[in-house]
Amino acid sequence: MHTNIGPHVADDVLEMYLMKSLPEDDIASVEEHLLICSDCQDQVEETETFIRAAKIALLDRGRKPAARALYVRGWIVVPVFAAVLLAITAGLLIPRQHSPAALPLAEAHLFAMRGAPVAHLRSGLGLILNLDATELPAGEYTVRVVDSGGREVWTGAGVSGNPLRVTIGRPLPAGQYWVRALQGADLKREYGLKLE
Ligand SMILES: [Zn+2]
Repeated sequence: MHTNIGPHVADDVLEMYLMKSLPEDDIASVEEHLLICSDCQDQVEETETFIRAAKIALLDRGRKPAARALYVRGWIVVPVFAAVLLAITAGLLIPRQHSPAALPLAEAHLFAMRGAPVAHLRSGLGLILNLDATELPAGEYTVRVVDSGGREVWTGAGVSGNPLRVTIGRPLPAGQYWVRALQGADLKREYGLKLE
């Protein structure tokens, strides 16, 4: 399939490119190659996912950040990766109290109507969920996320309105989830969510 696209971008170069630490002179040739090489585009996507997940893991206070980050997607630990992780750590650990807005998040709109498609998102990211609240009574809502076994994995207050909005600032593992909007103890609506 590959014709005249030159050699693939080396992993370490790609990581430097995504971390914005690649020298100016090298950026153009990397971007030129990425435009036409689907293999390297896939690699970018995978590396970006990893970097986001690592940032979330590092931002999640009170855990063992390095250990959690290292197990994301079974990433193979190589020296260049260690350097990237160090760079992330150095950049985020000091100002993290002041940078909640830097959390990488995936966003989806969830509908509970019959026949509406179940929202699919990538696992390993923080989530912003916009829950369709058409015809729901106004007022305060608690939102609960339960896994396919009925175990509660997250709960928090929804930001009132239509859509009813919640932000889950930590990654959830891949799987099928139910997102429940409650007023007091009354379940008002339930939405499906799939993380892959
Ligand atoms: Zn390539």
